[in-house]
This record gives sequence, C-alpha cells and structure tokens, in this order.
Amino acid sequence: MQRHADTHTTAPTANGLPRRTLTTLYGNTQKLDGGAMFGNAPRSLWQRWFDADSQNRIHLGCRALLVRESGRNILVEAGIGAFFSPEMKARYGVEEAEHVLLQRLADLGLSDADIDVVILTHLHFDHAGGLLAAWEDGAAPRLLFPNATFITSRRQWMRARNPHSRDRASFIPELLDLLEESQRLELIDAGQQTPTLGADWRFHFSDGHTPGQLLPEIPMPAGPVVFGGDLIPGAPWVHLPITMGYDRCAEGLIDEKTILLNDLLARNGRLVFPHDPAIGMGRIIRDDKGRFGLSDSARDVLALAE
Ligand SMILES: [Zn+2]
Repeated sequence: MQRHADTHTTAPTANGLPRRTLTTLYGNTQKLDGGAMFGNAPRSLWQRWFDADSQNRIHLGCRALLVRESGRNILVEAGIGAFFSPEMKARYGVEEAEHVLLQRLADLGLSDADIDVVILTHLHFDHAGGLLAAWEDGAAPRLLFPNATFITSRRQWMRARNPHSRDRASFIPELLDLLEESQRLELIDAGQQTPTLGADWRFHFSDGHTPGQLLPEIPMPAGPVVFGGDLIPGAPWVHLPITMGYDRCAEGLIDEKTILLNDLLARNGRLVFPHDPAIGMGRIIRDDKGRFGLSDSARDVLALAE
C-alpha cells in the first residue's frame, strides 16, 4: 500500500488502508415518469417497487456520498439541488425550494467551501445540478464549492459539450461554462487514476447510460464501495435485465452491469445508489438461481468507518 504525503495525519487501518469514513447525504428529491425509469419493464413489474402518482411519476432521491479521509472531504455527486426555476421544479417534481444537500453538509458542521474534491459520475442535471446555488429570481447561475477540484471523465465532458439531440436537455450549458472558468476542472481518461485522489482510489467506466460515466471505487476494510451512478441507480436495477428508458444503449449497459456485479461479488463489494429512496447502500450477493441481490442494505450511513 502506497501512502501519500497527506495521509500521515492519521494512522492507517490494520490492513493498511487510510482511515476514512463514508456518509451518504440524501439531498433534493425528484419525480420522474415510472415507465421511463424502467425502460422495457412493464408497469405490472415496476409497481412492485414504486408507487406511481396520478401523472405516473415515481418519487426518487438524489443521494451523494461524502468520503472523509486524511483531513479532507471528498464528495461524490451533488444531486439535482435547487437550481431549477419554480416552473422547472414543478416539471421534475422537485418539491424543496432550498438546497437540501447543503443542509445535510451543515448538519455535519460543513459548508460547500469545506469540500476539497467533487467527483461527478456524469453531468446530467440530477447528478450535477447541486453544484449550483439555489434559484433566485433574476440571479445568474452561481457555482458553489469554491475550493473544490471537480473530477469527471473527458469522454463525459465531450458529450456534455456536444450532446446528442436525445440527451441535450439533460445537460446544463451554464454549469459547464462555470466549471471551465473555475480552472478547477480535472478530466480523466478510461484506465487513468489521479494524484488528486491517490493511488488506492480507482474508477469503473461505463458507456451504457451516457458516454464515459465515471464510477469511483473507494477501498474500505470490509470490502470496496462503488458509487453506482446511473449504471445501477437503485436496488431494483441490480436485477440484470432492468434498465432505464434514459439509457443510451441498454444491452451494452447490461453487459457492463454484469461485469461490475461479478467483480463486486468476488470481492465482497458494496454499491451506493443515488436515486433509491429506501436503500442507499447494499452488499452484492447472488442467489442459487444466479440472480444478483443485496444484503446488509441500509437507507443511509453516517460516518461508516469499519
Ligand atoms: Zn443520468
């Protein structure tokens, strides 16, 4: 295990990993069409997992993951936040006026200025919109996290800058400009690690939902933890054939999901789910029929250290 200069402030764990804690932060929520969230799965199947409202929408969370290690704070994703105008909030079922993620950080005694790194799995508005301050009438969009390095993949950045007509509405051009102007944007390529995070962090790359989705893996004493992003956004999507209508390539996504779940199963790994209102983290298991499932699941974790 290679130690970095900034890990010397705390003694490593017995198996040599830097001491770190994981906290899931349940931020602003949204409502999206249930059919669109479950691709080719019929309502008779998905209504086992979600109740739909009168507009066929289901209630979804936006969950971020805070990793505290070696005196620094790393945030995986920022959720949808509260940057939308009231009209757009109504369209996407964002019910809270305030930026809930900032409140969850404040509960821990932190502000956005205390975050050293933000990792963005991808730049869709329900994963990156929380980088912006809450909407104010007449005010221009404002980038939060003034001291953070923002990490995403180069492939995802290129997509966001040159979107396809099918996913153009999922990106926020004003946010991309602000990220670029901040000069704190770090783009990484598939197979790369980054000295910003250190050698024991690694990434899984996925193209099935959007090109170059970046799924960070955090090594923990009781097995690795991977942020599932929109490759596996919640517990129902652990089931291999379940995809989203928003996915760019459903078959490719299922192949990527199979590889990741087999990898996590072999290493006693866990997933964090951004959108599942009931389950925030779970350990991957497989039953005697070969179906993947979860054990040790929890809605949220607070300063999980192991
Ligand atoms: Zn997405």
